[in-house]
Amino acid sequence: MKISEDAEKLINILSDNGCKAYAVGGCVRDYLLGKPEKDIDITTSAKPETVEEILKQNNIKVIETGLQHGTVTAVLNGENYEITTFRKDGEYKDNRRPESVSFVDDVKEDLSRRDFTINAMAYNHKEGIVDLFGGKKDIDNKVIRAVGNADLRFKEDALRIMRALRFSATLCFDIEESTKKAIFDNMYLLDNIAKERIFTELKKLLAGDNALQVLDAYKEVIGVVIPELKPAFDCVQNNPWHIYNVYDHIIHAVDAAPKDEIIRLTMLLHDIGKPSVKTTDEKGIDHFKFHAPVGADIAKKVLKRFKVSNEVYDKVTTLIRYHQGVENVDDIRVKRWLAKIGADYTKALFKVRISDLYAHNPAKIGYELKKLNEFLIELDEIVAAGEAFKISDLAVNGNDLIALGYKGKEIGEKLNEILMLVVDARLNNTKEDIVDYLNRK
Ligand code: ATP
Ligand code: MG
Repeated sequence: MKISEDAEKLINILSDNGCKAYAVGGCVRDYLLGKPEKDIDITTSAKPETVEEILKQNNIKVIETGLQHGTVTAVLNGENYEITTFRKDGEYKDNRRPESVSFVDDVKEDLSRRDFTINAMAYNHKEGIVDLFGGKKDIDNKVIRAVGNADLRFKEDALRIMRALRFSATLCFDIEESTKKAIFDNMYLLDNIAKERIFTELKKLLAGDNALQVLDAYKEVIGVVIPELKPAFDCVQNNPWHIYNVYDHIIHAVDAAPKDEIIRLTMLLHDIGKPSVKTTDEKGIDHFKFHAPVGADIAKKVLKRFKVSNEVYDKVTTLIRYHQGVENVDDIRVKRWLAKIGADYTKALFKVRISDLYAHNPAKIGYELKKLNEFLIELDEIVAAGEAFKISDLAVNGNDLIALGYKGKEIGEKLNEILMLVVDARLNNTKEDIVDYLNRK
């Protein structure tokens, strides 16, 4: 194995001072997978104070942030390296975190507390790859396997359940049978885990190549972390446009979506409102009137619980709210959408609708897909040409309207009215034409 010169240097400095030190975890796994190197975590027998002392003697900058947890951050050529002392976890009482951690001398103990065999390998130049739990073999066989007794490991820390799903989705690995069984046996313990930590794993899961397979095989786990999705599991859609029930449609839409956090999350939640508004007409056809705004309100609750950023919250709920509005492509006017929600959101909305369509009856979607792809091109052209679609693009502003005698609320209303006319090409965006229009009224 080869790691960056700087990481090698840190490990060598520690070894030269009589300490054991290794690159550990994700970086060894990614190396064996042939993936490019990301951050390298280092684990060492040296206690944090000793690590700090040794680094300082070697003129290496140190950040002390994680000292209580045994972590010292070294900064070398602008890169941060977390150096953590070999640890053994104390007793776990709340399915979350150990009551205590203690420092140990043996790398084996440190590796045995790690979650999966593929994440429990260490490396240094002298010893090569230290693989005590069959991590290499599991990488070769594409298997996620808990280190030790899976049932106990998930009881210790239930977040590992979401991590197993995440690694399965991103690496396209299967979860080994006894680990899989332990996931289903312990999935309700996820209720004890901080929602934002679950969300971090969920986001990564959604971006995985195998998100569809994992969302399908582990839908009960998804039902634990997003109970609002449970009614979708068996919600039939008897409608010529559909070939899947609501949940299967949802996960196929996730699969069809670009690997963008906002769009994949939107797809996961886009039809969450359907079960609660379902009606069946006299011909037996199912309808889901107003499922978009209803779904946006449900999504708000879900996203608040996950404590997502304001940006994610606004974008995802807006896209869900409006996704039904682009169902009929013949009614779409790109510039009107631009005026309503801006270029960013409109582009995302069209992509949402394209992903949504791919999870419909393939015999029906050709025309819509073609139109939506044309709209994406049209949108880029409008933006590139600098055409007007927002108030600030207009050739007049509030001051011009004040000069013409408008006051207060009227000003905003007039500007909007002008914008709508300009967007619909019923009025030229020149000061002369706009003032002329206002004087005529
Ligand atoms: P990524 O490439 O996404 O960063 P990673 O494997 O580095 O993947 P991290 O969350 O950065 O994942 O964790 C670093 C290492 O710490 C893991 O490889 C694993 O050995 C260990 N680890 C992380 N979380 C847990 C956990 N909940 N239980 C046990 N070990 C864990
Ligand atoms: Mg990492």
